[in-house]
Amino acid sequence: MAETHDLVLRGGRVLDPETNHDAVADVGVTGDLITAVSTTPLDGRRTLDVHGLAVAPGWIDMHSHAQSLAGHRLQALDGVTTALELEAGATPVAEAYGEATDEGRPLNFGFSASWAQARMAVIGGMPPGGGLTATLRRVGDPRWQAPARGRALDEILELLGSELANGALGIGVLMGYAPGVAHEEYAAVAALAASAGVPTYTHARELVERVPDILIDGAVELTRVAAETGAHMHYCHINSTSIRQIDRVLGLVEGVRAEGARVSTEAYPYGAGMTGIGASFLAPERLANWGITPRSIVYARTGERVADAVRLAELRAEDPGGLAIIHMLDDQVPADHAFLDRALLADSTVIGSDAMPLTWTSGVADPYAWPLPPAAVTHPRTAGTFSKVLRHYVRETGALSLLDAVSRATLLPARVLGDSVPALRRKGRVQAGCDADLVVFDPATVSDQATYEASTRPSTGYRHVFVAGEAVVADGELVLSALPGRAIRR
Ligand SMILES: [Zn+2]
Repeated sequence: MAETHDLVLRGGRVLDPETNHDAVADVGVTGDLITAVSTTPLDGRRTLDVHGLAVAPGWIDMHSHAQSLAGHRLQALDGVTTALELEAGATPVAEAYGEATDEGRPLNFGFSASWAQARMAVIGGMPPGGGLTATLRRVGDPRWQAPARGRALDEILELLGSELANGALGIGVLMGYAPGVAHEEYAAVAALAASAGVPTYTHARELVERVPDILIDGAVELTRVAAETGAHMHYCHINSTSIRQIDRVLGLVEGVRAEGARVSTEAYPYGAGMTGIGASFLAPERLANWGITPRSIVYARTGERVADAVRLAELRAEDPGGLAIIHMLDDQVPADHAFLDRALLADSTVIGSDAMPLTWTSGVADPYAWPLPPAAVTHPRTAGTFSKVLRHYVRETGALSLLDAVSRATLLPARVLGDSVPALRRKGRVQAGCDADLVVFDPATVSDQATYEASTRPSTGYRHVFVAGEAVVADGELVLSALPGRAIRR
């Protein structure tokens, strides 16, 4: 007797990057698992006709700082089913997992151990925890960036090791925010990751072209450590840390990979970055290094373009954790766009959004409001990254095949994590026995809608998004009550 599935997605174009499956089939789901993929019709207690639509694994975002209900909702409408905070991380991870679990999340979530927060506690003497909000507020504070003396490095490594034992998904390293920290410390953190068999996720140190007196070039450092320690070094947003030096950086990555080192790369398709305005690299005297001025910076809270160095210094002192957009490359200028293209289209580059928390221009957060009111602003990458890739690189320019783009959003990130995190071996795939995290979208119309001016406008084109078999988007609409997201731990 034929098996009856809870749900059958009937007649969609099923994309499975691991098996190169790109053909019409039925997909059966029972409970939280995919139970069949079949070219002969499946039997379901419920059937959704998805003819003419693509059925793919849900996007796995390795770089999401949007760890809130509203953030997850925006990402759900961009096709994301797993949103991981790996670059900044969270220490203690137990606090971050606990908060997300208590509040409930539409999307699966997970955290790395935070080297920056470990340093803030051990070197800076700051109280532990507080998540990204605390990290951003303190990010420009020189106290946590001081050299590790005596037993301090051992204490940092011990803390990170205990975080890994508590389920952290590797180690996030905001090296670029602490330019004075010794290279040897970075190498020691990588060696710890290598011995634990987990990846590191790095916001790399500055490049020598921009800061000639930097202790060590950020790309040389990351690739050297990959080669010397054997650690899997994940190069976060290689677009925004490399900017116009992308060819040299990719050359270094390819060079060490050819010799067996493990370096994975990640990019998002926007020319502007976003971070806390108090970051060391946004000091007024440093901007000229990378060819920008205070006018290149837009302070999110007021929407103002920062008038001059005096105003920049004022904002950095008043609100160091206040988010700001930094216009580094102009998406409208073809030569600038080409730098982004090379980052995103490089071999095996993972799509990672670097989705940001919301800034409330009213000064009062309303985290449960939906649709989001105009007072909530962010970087358009939060809401639009994955759909912009599908619109621009698949549909408009044809630079990526649909299956290749899907692979960069699903299988490739699952593989970065899969060696150390068993849960990721069942994600990023449309195969029987894998998790029923699925997106159903129209490849002919799927599109980002968010812009720098309308930064929280959700993407369009997703008919259904399932997390663990439960719809978080149904018939194109967000299901506000759905909170099927699960904690992903090592
Ligand atoms: Zn970063």
